[in-house]
Amino acid sequence: MMKRVLIANRGEIALRIQRACRYLGLETVQIFSEADRAAGYVASADQSLCIGLAAPSESYLNIPRLIAAARLTGADAIHPGYGFLSENAAFSRAVTEAGLIFVGPTPEAIEAMGDKISAKRLMRQSDVPCVPGVDGALPDDLEKCRSIAEQIGYPVIIKAAGGGGGRGMRILHDTSELAEGVAMTRDEARRAFANPDVYMEKFLPAPRHVEIQVLADKHGHAVWLGERDCSMQRRHQKVVEEAPAPGIPRDLVASVGERCAAACRAIGYQGAGTFEFLYENDAFYFIEMNTRVQVEHPVTEMVSGIDIVAWQLRIAAGEPLTLTQDGIATRGHAMECRINAEDPHTFRPSPGRITRWQPPGGPDVRVETHIESGYVVPPNYDSMIAKIIVRGADRADAIRRMRAALRETVSEGIATNIPLHLEILDDPAFVAGGAGIHHLETLLSDRADG
Ligand code: ADP
Repeated sequence: MMKRVLIANRGEIALRIQRACRYLGLETVQIFSEADRAAGYVASADQSLCIGLAAPSESYLNIPRLIAAARLTGADAIHPGYGFLSENAAFSRAVTEAGLIFVGPTPEAIEAMGDKISAKRLMRQSDVPCVPGVDGALPDDLEKCRSIAEQIGYPVIIKAAGGGGGRGMRILHDTSELAEGVAMTRDEARRAFANPDVYMEKFLPAPRHVEIQVLADKHGHAVWLGERDCSMQRRHQKVVEEAPAPGIPRDLVASVGERCAAACRAIGYQGAGTFEFLYENDAFYFIEMNTRVQVEHPVTEMVSGIDIVAWQLRIAAGEPLTLTQDGIATRGHAMECRINAEDPHTFRPSPGRITRWQPPGGPDVRVETHIESGYVVPPNYDSMIAKIIVRGADRADAIRRMRAALRETVSEGIATNIPLHLEILDDPAFVAGGAGIHHLETLLSDRADG
């Protein structure tokens, strides 16, 4: 049984997990670093415990301290949130070996999906559509690499099997770039991810980012909860997300969704997960699976009415999924804007004291944040301070509601990217729907030129 959950994370997601625990009648243990001592969500947990200095390696990334904190507080489960140790197989293993429940998939599943080559191979076996390329790591033989590239057709992209966070990738436009491109990516992969394996696939010039949310229990049951379009990105960081993805035929989404759920069953996946795809010319191409809850999960919750974080906890406790695919329906259109403490023009982080914060409200407006007036944004972590999520009858209605919500939001004392969000919401290509993953960067460079 699960009674007391230690939350191995900070900020808005820590509060979100606390809420799901309270909803399910579970006790909460909030760990924190020195930098987060004064945060309101630390005080709102049933128990809280400082586990170290502000540097993540001394606190939120420190596995022995997190396990010790769980022992000390009598927690029987650990929820990793997103980021930090959420996709770290060693952490999942350490938690389980300590006799605790890890709220997430098994270490084996995290490992299988963390290696992009093995993930892609598993996806192909379940008929999940993948980017054209070859299964497996590139051989050392350059001539063989050359013929693989020719077979795929330029441009191709070389990617590190262990890559993440948009690093360990290189685009090759023709054969003259091959030798150096492969060598450099391999070198980078060895240094950054301690795994020199690289693979090659077709480079898609102007795709959209569309992902499928899944839930799978420990009893072989899995469902998909619809898709999200997260194409508005800057430096591979998502800025705005929405559900459903505009203009994609429903039967196409359903067929891909079904295969994602089938893949979960085939690999014995447990928990919440996201299959990320590039979408181009009416086709989906799998790029990677995230084995954790995602920042943008609320847009799916808003249109489906399903509490994803509560289900993560229930699944971890061994409960069977009572959701059936037929019973899952989405209503309206949801959108999320990530509010960052940063300059909306230079994108320089803007930590410091928020002298006044007044979140928006009203029908179909949801705010996920841990900040309040007087909160000091520490310089040590990610700059995201809030997520504003709205739901509308349709996409145009959602955009209207988001504009109103952003205009109503008051944040003083630090800079935020709210002005950038308002620009995006007025951008004709965004308003039309279906813009690709390079659109926001183009918009920003036009802005810089103009
Ligand atoms: P990471 O784990 O580092 O986020 P992903 O495999 O998810 O790596 O890829 C990150 C981003 O790189 C994608 O969102 C996309 O912008 C770009 N990318 C990856 N593979 C391709 C591809 N085959 N064609 C075009 N762009 C790609």
